[in-house]
Amino acid sequence: MAIADTIIELCSMAGPAGYEQAVAARVREMLSACMDEVRTDVLGNIIGIKRCGRENAKKLLFDAHIDEIGFIITGWDEGFLRFSALGGVDSRMLPASEIKILTEPPIVGIVGVLPPHILKADESDKTIKIEDLYIDVGLTQDEAKKAVPLGTAAVYNTGARLFGDGLICGKALDDRACFAGVLRALELLKDQKLEVDIYVLASVQEEVGERGARAGAFGIAPDWCVAIDVDHAKTPDSKEPGMKELGGGVIISKGTILNKPLTETAVKLAEVKDIKYQIGIEAGDTGTNANYIQISREGVATALFGLPLKYMHTPVEVISLADAEAAALLLAEVAMAMKGDDLHA
Ligand SMILES: [Zn+2]
Repeated sequence: MAIADTIIELCSMAGPAGYEQAVAARVREMLSACMDEVRTDVLGNIIGIKRCGRENAKKLLFDAHIDEIGFIITGWDEGFLRFSALGGVDSRMLPASEIKILTEPPIVGIVGVLPPHILKADESDKTIKIEDLYIDVGLTQDEAKKAVPLGTAAVYNTGARLFGDGLICGKALDDRACFAGVLRALELLKDQKLEVDIYVLASVQEEVGERGARAGAFGIAPDWCVAIDVDHAKTPDSKEPGMKELGGGVIISKGTILNKPLTETAVKLAEVKDIKYQIGIEAGDTGTNANYIQISREGVATALFGLPLKYMHTPVEVISLADAEAAALLLAEVAMAMKGDDLHA
């Protein structure tokens, strides 16, 4: 399956943090096709294992999260739904957007807003807080109560599609585009003789505090890990230092919590194998699962790869397919380079 098809399929599915079951079931199928063993843990993480055949082989873990930001229904008001955020939702994105409410079958709602004609002069340029917004599902109070139980989850009513030249635009590219990169790496490793066991952690609940990865990494007890997540790409209005280049290749991050030998191995492999890459700097907290995998059990030598992405946590995130392919190539090279000897601090 081409990487674009995998990304589009996975991003078109709904799986907000804590409600990843549908995505997780599809991920389980995808991993079952290319790994020796697949299991689901208590939190709902999907864990795949590809054994190298050596006894007591060391474990190299690839982690990518499969949840996305979303919403949860908290009440009804004259048939309109009140809701809260699951993860880092930007409420500027909400007015007039379509929301897919994950009832069985799902129903589509719209986030209602007052027309400009009736707003007061000082209201028209203000962001409306999420608690002041509501979802219109076109139902009466009684109908809404029946159709949409409290605690129903929801996501933006969009998927992902090809965009521009070699790009993809949509929701949930954070982080399912990276998970698609991991799958592509497994495809590249299909007939390779490896000296370490490869573990894949399709982690849940990242958007609400990297929770899946904490339990997942503890259960796996890996020797090394490469966590892969999206990172901010430059746009004309972003003058911040440290923004990454969309199309500039896979990001290899360096910083306090990231394992130096593993990171240097990745940089060297990218150089030697001519894989397009850029360096990212993480002064402390990386904002990713790497934070917790690094300090799982007695510590895990952890590297962080990134995929440049524009408009993070919106329904129109953008990534480059060439960057996703570069990430996959580098993951595969790292897997082939690991010889089972020590590679610590
Ligand atoms: Zn992410």
